[in-house]
Amino acid sequence: MSGVMLVTGGSRGIGAACARLAAGRGYDVCVNYRGDAAAAEAVVRAVEAEGRRGLAVQADVAREDEAERLFETLDRELGPLTALVNNAGLTGHFSRLDEVSGETLRQVMEVNVLGLIYCARAAVRRMSQRHGGRGGGIVNLSSGAATLGSPNTYVWYAASKGAVDSFTKGLALEVAREGIRVNAVAPGFIKTEIHASSGMPDRLESTPEVVPMGYPAEPEEVAEAILWLLSEAAGYVTGEVLRVAGGR
Ligand code: NAP
Repeated sequence: MSGVMLVTGGSRGIGAACARLAAGRGYDVCVNYRGDAAAAEAVVRAVEAEGRRGLAVQADVAREDEAERLFETLDRELGPLTALVNNAGLTGHFSRLDEVSGETLRQVMEVNVLGLIYCARAAVRRMSQRHGGRGGGIVNLSSGAATLGSPNTYVWYAASKGAVDSFTKGLALEVAREGIRVNAVAPGFIKTEIHASSGMPDRLESTPEVVPMGYPAEPEEVAEAILWLLSEAAGYVTGEVLRVAGGR
């Protein structure tokens, strides 16, 4: 058995692909979601079809009390956490900075940065050998945007992912001797609903011009990188940001 994994935002896209792949590799999986219970339950059924335990938990990770409740539910229902995939994230509607609302800025920072940090803190409190835990792994979802900056699209989102990269490095060093490895994956153009949600349903059509490999990836290709970082095969890898972006 590979242990117990929590995937935040696991109801669709990269998170759902990760939950399904993890079950196939022997993990029991807690699928967190914010609004779409039916989608989360479908992922849980796919986990159970692999012979593993699955659990869907509604929680807005940007709210500290809800993030805490998410981990308490997982403790109670699935047992000791061994892997956190900090995946929940959003871009806000695309625009220039001088046209974006304060509400979008707050929401993106609260989910992508604060929510991710709340969940990492809860995971460290459970997994760190300093607290009597048995160690484990954390993978944070960054983005190629962190280094590209995403001008005229969502510079605030790029900045939130830059924060994810800094946090990944710092936390990895802080817990390096406590049995926890912390890494990030930075996807490029991936076939999920995030593009439609950001107001650009046709975004992937520009892939041939902007991605050196010429095509967008499937969510499963990102999930493979996440699962590798959490595996023993990556046992000496910590504090890294692994780009999965077709050369972009
Ligand atoms: P997606 O298809 O839009 O799915 C987002 C997921 O996050 C959904 O399961 C959603 O749940 C959940 N979620 C959103 N806000 C949440 C909150 N406050 N609390 C709990 N769950 C929440 O996104 P994706 O494309 O798979 O992206 C996953 C991650 O990869 C994100 O961090 C994103 O920034 C990053 N990424 C994606 C791409 C790409 O091209 N797709 C590229 C680079 C980075 P509900 O459906 O229930 O609301």
